[in-house]
Amino acid sequence: MSLDLNDKTLFPVASDLPDEASLDVNLKYVKKVANTYVPIRRWCLLVEIIKHTENTLRPTYQVKDIEGREFRVGFYVPTSQFVEIIQKCQPGYTMAIMFAGRNVSDDDTLLIPVRELKALEVLPCALEELVEVAKRMDQTTVCIHCGNVAKLKCSRCGSPFCNKECLQQNWKLAHKRQCVAVQKLQEWNTLTWDTYAYA
Ligand SMILES: [Zn+2]
Ligand SMILES: [Zn+2]
Repeated sequence: MSLDLNDKTLFPVASDLPDEASLDVNLKYVKKVANTYVPIRRWCLLVEIIKHTENTLRPTYQVKDIEGREFRVGFYVPTSQFVEIIQKCQPGYTMAIMFAGRNVSDDDTLLIPVRELKALEVLPCALEELVEVAKRMDQTTVCIHCGNVAKLKCSRCGSPFCNKECLQQNWKLAHKRQCVAVQKLQEWNTLTWDTYAYA
């Protein structure tokens, strides 16, 4: 079984994320402990990067979620990590932000803050493509390049192909980036999502 990226509990849209400013809401994800909130399960915000936006203080990106709604993601991390973030976050790529919370910026628009780099994964494919890849993961007998009976598996991710030729042709076309996505989805599949466990 593979993960359903359309499962709105595991992969919520931004409006359903716990609000950092009012901790009483959305007890599906957090409980209040003293003056902070603590996750009670795992969830992950998936967004596609549209562009880097002007911000003199920190890397900030215009992004869109699975339903096409746009907002921004900002990195509240040490400046020493800025270069790594800017290299990773390319337009058209997908950000996966574990335990994401929502907040508003100075101009009152929605801003998703990332406060720890370990909460972030950047996958080198568009969000729609990631959803398609996830749907296809249970299918293991048919070549994902041509649809014939598969006799070979990608040595990195196990995706089915007829032979080396199909794998090589598809590698240039799509699998170079999809292979990374499949491996990340396989890793997510092994995680516990319904209780809190920060790996
Ligand atoms: Zn084939
Ligand atoms: Zn692969």
